[in-house]
Amino acid sequence: MATKNIKFNTKTIHGGQRPDKAYGAVIPPIYQTSTYAQTTPGGHKGYQYSRSANPTRTALENSLASIEGGEFGLAFGSGLAAIDAIIKLLEPGDEVISTNDLYGGTYRIFKTIFEKYGIVFHFVGMQGVEAVREQINSKTKLIWVETPTNPMMNIINIKAVVALTKGTDILLAVDNTFATPYLQKPLELGADIVMHSATKYLGGHSDTVVGALVVKDKELADKLYFIQKASGAVCGPMDSFLVLRGIKTLHVRMQRHCENGKAIAEYLKTNPKIEKVYWPGFGDHPNHVVAKEQMKDFGGMISFVPKGGSYDNAIKIVEKLQVFTLAESLGGVESLVGHPASMTHESIPKEERLRIGVVDALIRLSVGIEDVDDLIADLEQAIE
Ligand SMILES: *Cc1c(COP(=O)(O)O)cnc(C)c1O
Repeated sequence: MATKNIKFNTKTIHGGQRPDKAYGAVIPPIYQTSTYAQTTPGGHKGYQYSRSANPTRTALENSLASIEGGEFGLAFGSGLAAIDAIIKLLEPGDEVISTNDLYGGTYRIFKTIFEKYGIVFHFVGMQGVEAVREQINSKTKLIWVETPTNPMMNIINIKAVVALTKGTDILLAVDNTFATPYLQKPLELGADIVMHSATKYLGGHSDTVVGALVVKDKELADKLYFIQKASGAVCGPMDSFLVLRGIKTLHVRMQRHCENGKAIAEYLKTNPKIEKVYWPGFGDHPNHVVAKEQMKDFGGMISFVPKGGSYDNAIKIVEKLQVFTLAESLGGVESLVGHPASMTHESIPKEERLRIGVVDALIRLSVGIEDVDDLIADLEQAIE
């Protein structure tokens, strides 16, 4: 099937895929092998060793490239391994401008792993891009955007950041984990690299840990493939299979995540026991206009603060929930609840955390695709 000009829902199922060459298997087989027989040294069928390439991983990488509207996909052993590969494009002395409201593990790898190799990170609020412009200098080599941000649900205007990097050698990478290409396509907006924790919505079933990168440029892809092979943080064939299977239902899952997310955001907003709800679909969300423009819908991630909420208060609520499971992670079919201050964002220093709004009482929901009435009833009893 020629899969270049098909639409998104068709791409999730067919993009970059064709029946397997050996027996015509419609679904790419799990090639659980480390190596491949050669007829003569170098006489192979495109695969020599599974760190360099594996047919199941290739199938996933082709699918990733297709759904993000890119040319080249790369699958890694985790989202952080994918981030690690991007930073390895840089040299000591190079500077990175990153949003200050981001996934805790991303902050941690930047600060604790790469700073000691001489890479300089500046963390700035990116809702207005002025702050980004002010940090740019001749050493700036990468801008790191995560939107919607985690857990504050701020929206960064990707096009506005692209305008700052146009005509420079500064790469723009976007962590598209929360939005997925169903909602937002950073490469089409002009970004250079899209990154995913495919562990979340792409996989969609909380059953594997996988990372992904997608790019359009061949030279950049070659550099990243080299890092992937040389550093070796690849994703295995079974995990590739699971994410590939997840992607086939991405569009129907996302549609329901968005519907349920909207219903729950609106329920929380009218609940007198709730102080504040963070969800980009509200007309009074500070970046609602940008969200409406760059996203197809608003997703299933919501954060909220109970009225008069304290650390203990929030803990009580998350412990009382029954349909929502208290767990790290997000993006699966089941609803999850998290307490950022003690879980996902615990590695961010407290004053930094408070400055970006991650207060002790903040609760984050990953709204799943269950019956929304059951989810609302669960929240109701826990908030009581
Ligand atoms: C989970 C997550 C990551 C890290 O991905 P892993 O697969 O856990 O390594 C990065 N960014 C965001 C937004 C995430 O939610």
